[in-house]
Amino acid sequence: MVKSSPELATERPPETGDPDAGIRWTVAHAAAGSPWWRSHFERAHVDPKSISGVADLPRLPFTTKEDLRASYPLGWAAVPESSLVRLHASSGTTGKRTVCAYTAQDLADWREQFARSFVTAGVTSADRVQVMVGYGLWTAGAGFQAGAERVGALVIPTGPGNLDLQVEMLLDLGTTVICSTSSFALLLAETIEARGLTGSLALRVGVFGSERWGTRMRERIESLLGLESFDIYGLTELYGPGVGIECTEHEGIHYWSDYFVMEVVDPLSGECLPPGEEGEVVVTTLRKEGMPLIRYRTRDLSRLISEPCKCGSPFPRLARLTGRTDDMVKVKGVAIFPSQVETLLGRVEGVGSEYQLHFYRNGERGDALVVRVEAEDYPGLKDSLVYQLHEGLSVRPEVELLPLGSLPRTERKTQRVFEHRG
Ligand SMILES: [Zn+2]
Repeated sequence: MVKSSPELATERPPETGDPDAGIRWTVAHAAAGSPWWRSHFERAHVDPKSISGVADLPRLPFTTKEDLRASYPLGWAAVPESSLVRLHASSGTTGKRTVCAYTAQDLADWREQFARSFVTAGVTSADRVQVMVGYGLWTAGAGFQAGAERVGALVIPTGPGNLDLQVEMLLDLGTTVICSTSSFALLLAETIEARGLTGSLALRVGVFGSERWGTRMRERIESLLGLESFDIYGLTELYGPGVGIECTEHEGIHYWSDYFVMEVVDPLSGECLPPGEEGEVVVTTLRKEGMPLIRYRTRDLSRLISEPCKCGSPFPRLARLTGRTDDMVKVKGVAIFPSQVETLLGRVEGVGSEYQLHFYRNGERGDALVVRVEAEDYPGLKDSLVYQLHEGLSVRPEVELLPLGSLPRTERKTQRVFEHRG
């Protein structure tokens, strides 16, 4: 075990994972260590000493990505800079980068969580894990590598892209586990198929994350690569990836409730929602020293699952993400999430994994939504799709059918929403 960092303003919380003790410690630690946090509590008229546990969470103010950016780069840090040992930053897809700085203990905690994620996906010390995600400033590579090494697996850190190198390593080293974005996994799977290599791989597990992916895409990746896939969850602000993952039941994501608490709130009113109701995921850390999070709004949309999992894990579950609060697009006054379209498309026979949504301004007829989708065309398919989408979205789209494999495949996150309304 790594020892606690020496210059902390407050003691470490007990290691028992008692969430009330963790909340008390986190609030006191943030207030003691950071003027930014002190003024954040003052603005909300909350006395940090009055917080006694999880039940008091609704009294605490939310924090947002904008708050994090306003205190850029290290205003959120609750320890002296000399206690910080590493920094990562988000990919900045929706604006300026946000940074996450870690103490040595934070990195050890992250490694434990990531190792637990690999174990949940059935990875063991006998596995060869090819890490095909970015290294460096981005959190992913470092996290996957540390977690897999903690499990005792052999790590092959190929990094992202470079299909020829990836295929060479898969074949030469008999890689059994791959870690990547789902977009890259699809690209790799189709490359393997095109080169006639399906069946000559030793793969058995795929750990995919950083974007939402549909059932069709998942089935295609699994069948072409011959593996079982696991959806991994994470965000840079909360350690990084590896803070939760699916188990072999594939009914939601187990998250590590001894390190953080999750709430789901109404994205508009901010009110807490009961388990089963969909809203925005909000996280509060219980042990994070460098940059604690208190009621941080993740912008991820999901719901808490209160029933125990069939796998017997003691850890609670979050449903697979349905999207992000900032994915919402309005057409003819109706709010649409790409995930809704994906779900509806997935119900129709013959539809492929790839689709695009195009939004146009269409003169006197108002806005228009054009859904371009890969499919094996057959009589009545287009009408059936228009009907299903109209029923499900309350907006009648135009549907364009495209041959399978014709939409672009990318190595990073795939763009599916195209706004042409200026
Ligand atoms: Zn489970």
